[in-house]
Amino acid sequence: MKVLIINAGSSSIKYQLIAMPMEQVICSGLLERIGSKEAKLTYKTADTDREETLEIPDHKTGFRKIAAYLLDVNIGVVKNIDQIEIIGHRVVHGGTTFSNTTLITKEVKDKIKALSILAPLHNPHNLEGIVLAEEIFPNANQIAVFDTAFHQTMPEKAKKYAIPNYFYNEHHIQAYGFHGTSHKFVSEKAITHLQKKDSKMISIHLGNGCSMTAIKNGRSIDHSLGFTPSNGLIMGSRSGDIDHSLIFYLVNTLDYDLDAVSTLLIKESGMKGLTGSSDLRDVQSEAEKGNQDCILALEMNAYRIKKYIGAYVAALNGIDAIIFTAGIGENSNLLRKMICSDMDYLGIVLDDSKNEMKSASLREINSNSSKVKLLVIPTNEEIEIAKQSYNLLRSD
Ligand code: ADP
Repeated sequence: MKVLIINAGSSSIKYQLIAMPMEQVICSGLLERIGSKEAKLTYKTADTDREETLEIPDHKTGFRKIAAYLLDVNIGVVKNIDQIEIIGHRVVHGGTTFSNTTLITKEVKDKIKALSILAPLHNPHNLEGIVLAEEIFPNANQIAVFDTAFHQTMPEKAKKYAIPNYFYNEHHIQAYGFHGTSHKFVSEKAITHLQKKDSKMISIHLGNGCSMTAIKNGRSIDHSLGFTPSNGLIMGSRSGDIDHSLIFYLVNTLDYDLDAVSTLLIKESGMKGLTGSSDLRDVQSEAEKGNQDCILALEMNAYRIKKYIGAYVAALNGIDAIIFTAGIGENSNLLRKMICSDMDYLGIVLDDSKNEMKSASLREINSNSSKVKLLVIPTNEEIEIAKQSYNLLRSD
C-alpha cells in the first residue's frame, strides 16, 4: 500500500511516498519558497535526483506540480493517482480534541480550523494541504497525525499553568507539547533497543525547534514546550524560557508593540539573537575560531538542557536512557559532549570516541561504566506518520 506523507507549511510542502508495511521510501522531496518566481522543487527516487527552480504562485500550483512528478511517464513512481491509497498529513495542533491519529472528515477539518487560533503559523497551512490533497487525490483516505497527540498522556500537574482554573476549564489554556511524532518514534526505537517496556527515558529533540520529553513506560509525562512551541530550551531563533515580565518591560518601558515582541522572541532570539546565526554549524565553527558570543551561546544552550535533564530525572524518579535526535541531536558531537559533561552524579558518562563516530543508524555513545544509556537515534517523522496512518486504516 502506498502512503503519501504531506507536511504543508506557510511557504513549503515536504512530501514522501512510502510503501507500507515495508516502510520503504519510494520518493521524497521538498517544494520551498511558494509564492515566489524562484521556488525550488526537489524530487528524489532510487534512480532520479531532480532539482527545479520555477514559478509557484500558490500551494495549489505546488501540489499539482508534485503530483505531475509522481505521475511522470519517465521518472514517475505511480501509473495513476488512485495507486496512492492513503495521504498522511502532519497537523501541528490537535488541542484537547485529538489524542490520536484521525481519519479526516468535514467535522475534523472544522476542528483543525478552529484550532488555528492556538497555532496560527501552522494549522491553517496544514489544513490548506488537506483541502488541496482532497481535490487532487479524491479517492485516497486522508488522515491527520497530530504533533500534540503523544503528549495527551501528560498528567494535569504537568500540563496546567498556575493561573485561575477558569482559563484551563473554559479556554483550554494548558501545555500541549509538540514534536510528538518525533518523540514517539525515537522512544519506541529505544524501547525496542533496550528491550525494556517499563523504562524511564528522556528524549531530546534538537532541530530548529528544540524540545525534551520525560517518557515513562512509553508515555509522555512531561515536556518542555507548552501552550505554543516557544518555551523551554534555547532554539534556533526562539528564546525558550524567559521571565514573562520581560514582555511587560519591553512594552511599557521600551515602547515595543506586541507584534514586535512576538517577532523578537520567536524569530530574532535563541542562537540567532545570541550569535547572529540560527544554524548551529555556523555557531560551532565561529566558536572554534574563538568567538566569545558563540562559545557562551553554546554553553547557555547545553546548560539549559542539563537543567531539564535534572528536572526530568526527578520527575521520573530515575533514568534508563537519554535519546538525542534531530539535526543537532544527531550530528553535533560537541553539544552532546557539553550536555553530558559533569553528569556522573546521575550515572551519565559519555564515551568520547563513540560520541565522535558518525552513523545514520541508532547507536550507543555512553561509556561501559555509565548507568544511563546514551542513544543517538535518527528521527523519521514521515515514517511514523506513514505507520500511524496505515495502522489506523488496517484496524478499521
Ligand atoms: P527542523 O527543525 O527544521 O526539522 P533539523 O532537524 O533539520 O531542523 O535541524 C536543523 C539544525 O541542525 C540546524 O541548526 C543545523 O545547523 C543543525 N545541524 C545539521 N547538521 C549538523 C551538523 N553536522 N553539526 C551540527 N549541527 C548540525
